[in-house]
Amino acid sequence: MLSDSMPRLNLAHLPTPLQHLPRLSESIGDPEIYIKRDDCAGLALGGNKIRKLEYLLADAKSCGATTVITAGGMQSNHARLTAAAACQVGMSCELVLERPATNPTQAFVRSGNQLLNRWLGAKVHLVDADQNPGPHLDRIAAEVRSRGDKPYVIPVGGSNALGALGYVRCAEEILAQMQMEKLRFDWIVLASGSGGTQAGLLLGLRALGSNIPVLGIGVSSARPEQTSKVREVADAASQLLGVEPLGPDDIRLNCNHIGEGYGVPTDGMIESVSRVARLEGILLDPVYTGKAMAGLLHELTTGKLKNAKSVLFLHTGGAAGLFGYPDLI
Ligand SMILES: *Cc1c(COP(=O)(O)O)cnc(C)c1O
Repeated sequence: MLSDSMPRLNLAHLPTPLQHLPRLSESIGDPEIYIKRDDCAGLALGGNKIRKLEYLLADAKSCGATTVITAGGMQSNHARLTAAAACQVGMSCELVLERPATNPTQAFVRSGNQLLNRWLGAKVHLVDADQNPGPHLDRIAAEVRSRGDKPYVIPVGGSNALGALGYVRCAEEILAQMQMEKLRFDWIVLASGSGGTQAGLLLGLRALGSNIPVLGIGVSSARPEQTSKVREVADAASQLLGVEPLGPDDIRLNCNHIGEGYGVPTDGMIESVSRVARLEGILLDPVYTGKAMAGLLHELTTGKLKNAKSVLFLHTGGAAGLFGYPDLI
């Protein structure tokens, strides 16, 4: 397999289930909606970052690293899963987390992923919002070195060429499940943040000869910027793997469901999280999958997915974040 060309640790429970959502589908009308449950990937409440960390931590190990360092928002799922993965492989973990720009609630500061970071024993460094985490990561890496430990820095969201390989592998997994269960999808839809998930998934699909269109629903940046993020990671990963780069039109994005900004709740998100919970018993999250589902449902009813017969939604995890926003419901 393509994704076997680089060393990888086994951290995830794979394959994750691919299931039909009959009640959600019926509530929309025509199209059949399926969901790929990467929220059930096993490690510490699941999520998409586990597949990326399988490659990133394999690299950290082969570099002889003793401490992994990464950055994210205060309720970052990537940070929580990096902390958990570090535990599983016997490394320490330090996290650079951004305080939100506006005054956060107690729950946002103490609960959700922040609570889990404490249980997982990660050392958290809080920094002010809207700063480039780069200098902080460098500073902490220097501190770690000065103690005689060996740091390994993982970029925000685990989105570099190595991290994206986790979703090349997921593309292989999805195509195998489709074949086994005789399914075909007109679209795959997912949340797009730091871009590595969309990049890896697309690259894997195209490298395996699948032309299924993938629609990313942006959660943080305007479309041109989001497109470059995905393109940059995809280019790096295609070089690493020695496969064709993505075509000019492969990166499709809808960035109209962000609302006021990253992590800021929207009505569409709240409606989508409660709808999927109440119709299917599945928990989405307030920052990524809730907004992505709002985008999917909107596209299915009025947008470019109007004629789709069958779509796959990639559940990238994040429900731990619901506890950071207890007042939404
Ligand atoms: C990080 C994350 C995403 C976005 O993945 P990227 O690879 O950063 O684009 C989507 N959903 C959840 C729950 C996440 O934590």
